[in-house]
Amino acid sequence: MNQPHHPDPAFAGPRYLAAFGPKRVPHCFTDVLILGGGLAGLRAALAVDPRLTVTVVTKDDLQGSSSQWAQGGIAGVVDPEDRFDNHVADTLTAGGGLCHEDVVDAVVREAPARIAELIAWGTRFDSHNGSLELGREGGHSHHRIVHALGDATGREVMRAVIERARTLANLEVWPDTFTIDLLTHEHGCRGALVWNPAHGKTLVWARRTILATGGAGQLYRESTNPPGASGDGLALAWRAGAELRDMEFMQFHPTVLYIAGGARSLITEAVRGAGAWLVDRDGRRFMPEMDPRAELAPRDVVARAITEVMHRTHQANVFLDLSHLDAAEVRRKFPGMAEICAKFGLDLTRDRIPVRPGAHYMIGGVTVDGRGRTTLPGLYAAGEVTSSGLHGANRLASNSLLEGLVYGARAGEAASEDILGASGGPDDGDREFRVPALSNPRAVDPHSQAAEANGSLDLADIRNSLRALMWRHVGVERTGDSLGEALETVEGWCRYVLPRQFAEPQGWQLQNMLEVARLMIRGAVERRETRGVHFRSDFPEPSAAWRAHIGWLRGREQPLVEALRTATSVEPCTGPYAGATEVR
Ligand SMILES: Cc1cc2nc3c(=O)[nH]c(=O)nc-3n(C[C@H](O)[C@H](O)[C@H](O)COP(=O)(O)OP(=O)(O)OC[C@H]3O[C@@H](n4cnc5c(N)ncnc54)[C@H](O)[C@@H]3O)c2cc1C
Repeated sequence: MNQPHHPDPAFAGPRYLAAFGPKRVPHCFTDVLILGGGLAGLRAALAVDPRLTVTVVTKDDLQGSSSQWAQGGIAGVVDPEDRFDNHVADTLTAGGGLCHEDVVDAVVREAPARIAELIAWGTRFDSHNGSLELGREGGHSHHRIVHALGDATGREVMRAVIERARTLANLEVWPDTFTIDLLTHEHGCRGALVWNPAHGKTLVWARRTILATGGAGQLYRESTNPPGASGDGLALAWRAGAELRDMEFMQFHPTVLYIAGGARSLITEAVRGAGAWLVDRDGRRFMPEMDPRAELAPRDVVARAITEVMHRTHQANVFLDLSHLDAAEVRRKFPGMAEICAKFGLDLTRDRIPVRPGAHYMIGGVTVDGRGRTTLPGLYAAGEVTSSGLHGANRLASNSLLEGLVYGARAGEAASEDILGASGGPDDGDREFRVPALSNPRAVDPHSQAAEANGSLDLADIRNSLRALMWRHVGVERTGDSLGEALETVEGWCRYVLPRQFAEPQGWQLQNMLEVARLMIRGAVERRETRGVHFRSDFPEPSAAWRAHIGWLRGREQPLVEALRTATSVEPCTGPYAGATEVR
């Protein structure tokens, strides 16, 4: 679709958030640059050919990723009673007609090998009499979730993967380092501009770059995500010219602990898998009358049911009730949850636990093909930042760590092969390491502007307002009118926040959140139907016409609406920057 540029210059926003003069900023070189130190990023690092150098840049200290926070576990067919076809069917059912069947099939079949690999690297999954203990979560027809430390799977998996990564001689990790933007030249990604408090800005030139920056739950006032999940990777891929897809699909976790003043801790679906009930303020169980799968219905169904009951009862939450279950067993299975509840004087085994939905998982993202290639040559992506075709319009529980493992490995392998020439002839490495003369129209003195910008804007206030607005207007239930109102407000904020230059992550992060929010709202406005996690009360049914992806490219006002392809490819990525698409 060839559409004219948006007449409003604020629509596209600046190409680079920060000024940098290549002669004044230090330069570093690496073969593969990985942005993000969660499971997808580290799995990618482990897959890179040992002859190549790898740099992992992460804005946390390797402990603050969503991967570290994952609770329930990893889905995979490891029980002889279970079948790949069952896991595929459950994933497709949850995905609301937008999954790519080839992707689902391949990922599901790869799961046992990826789980076995984690075990070989030292992950201690919970087991019973020498067999893996398998949990069951909403939307799964079988027990097939491997988990660790009861409800702290992410912590244990990341411990093992970080230890493994530390053995790699070719790997360097740069913690506490914020990626501001991807560097692009001649229609290809050449690395990234990064910043850390000790060294300031650095230009990191890379032969291949892998984006693994995770999700965007922090765009919402109620969220299960860690503070760093602010959608940076989505925004920086967007500014660099990669296609983003299906941005309206944000999954809300139905059961987030809701205690005023307390952290919004997720209460894992495994709790409902173990038999917990959802009840209203009068203690009445409501799920069986709303869906035959009751508490084990897919997340969107449960989140919507809870929202409906909250409206009906004029309450800010509903409750989880485990009092009918064996107390010792509950404590054994959910020690982390029991401890968090105890901090607020609640006994998980006896008391009713107040819960409500919260933004949990970003389903839309950077379009990738089966090997993790984006539409921007030289850039790969893996994990929650992507739209791979696995989740469709709704993610099946515990399929995301799996996706990070599978696509992390593929992206690391594909990047290595491209550099080493296995899939496109010998690579001319020198060409790619030559520092191009980048044009950055923002190459001005950043200090004066940054000082001015920070002085006149209350960034925390805009951030809080944005999160409240997204929760109110772009939450579990949406309507055209309220989405239109939200878009107008966010466009207004964009107009005066995006042109500014900031000197620190707080400002860049806010700019990223605004860019991502705008795309999410535009996607939600565009999709005039209800599908998966996207519930439009003014269009409450799915529409065959909308069994399509909605793609976004910077510089084009209109979205690319593309009927579902079952085969997954992005174009073109056949060799190092050969036949590059015109990316603006
Ligand atoms: C509470 C909770 C429980 C969950 N439970 C499960 C579960 O049981 N099973 C399951 O399958 N999924 C679960 N999920 C989802 C799953 O954890 C995530 O989808 C998955 O871990 C994402 O992995 P990732 O590597 O893509 O991103 P992350 O693990 O989030 O890692 C992203 C990394 O990128 C870095 N980063 C981001 N922006 C920048 C930047 N600008 N510069 C530099 N670095 C940056 C971050 O610091 C972080 O290191 C859960 C999520 C949450 C929040």
